[in-house]
Amino acid sequence: MTSPGPRLVLLGRQGAGKGTQASMLSAHFGIEHVSTGDLFRAAAAEGTQAGLEAKRYMDAGELVPDDTVIRVVEERFGDGGPLEDGFVLDGFPRTLRQAEELERVLVAHPLDVVVDLDVPTEIVLDRIAGRRVCEDCGTVYHLNMPPREDWACDVCGGRVVQRDDDTEEAIQRRLELYERETRPVVDFYRQLGRLAVVDAVGEGEEVFERIVKVVEKHLRSGPA
Ligand SMILES: [Zn+2]
Repeated sequence: MTSPGPRLVLLGRQGAGKGTQASMLSAHFGIEHVSTGDLFRAAAAEGTQAGLEAKRYMDAGELVPDDTVIRVVEERFGDGGPLEDGFVLDGFPRTLRQAEELERVLVAHPLDVVVDLDVPTEIVLDRIAGRRVCEDCGTVYHLNMPPREDWACDVCGGRVVQRDDDTEEAIQRRLELYERETRPVVDFYRQLGRLAVVDAVGEGEEVFERIVKVVEKHLRSGPA
């Protein structure tokens, strides 16, 4: 009998590498990678009421409000699935209210570890402000890692540009919002004894090894 995979949450500011690390964790532990973006899109495609609501906010370029997010998550986790087999949540919970509601939804299958990816502001700024994206296929580049030819995409030849919301000013605004909303989430999990802060400066592989190490340590010692 194989034991179920861990139930994880990845926290961290934009540019901390959450998406990349979540994919690697998903492959390593054989657990589902659940990002809120994917959840919203799937729920909208299924045509659930909460899914359609989430889509309206996203189409308008607004943050999806707590109530809607929680309902979408509840729909997804309500029927067994990833609850039994383990998962890594990426981009959720982002507010204290969402974290509290998540505890309620997961009641019989509590989270094992909440990993907070810690990256200094100046590194986040450099990662995001230096980011360039292909207009056509979305491939991501960086000023330090440009496409081979003159800002034409290596994959499709499309134009590689800076997104409007990747300017330094826009990033600062997003970081402040994240700080305000998510700091209480970090404190919440710290009080529950589930928080592990991981230094996320360095190569993706190195950071990944640090995360795996703390996850395994928490799994061995059981819930605090
Ligand atoms: Zn492209």
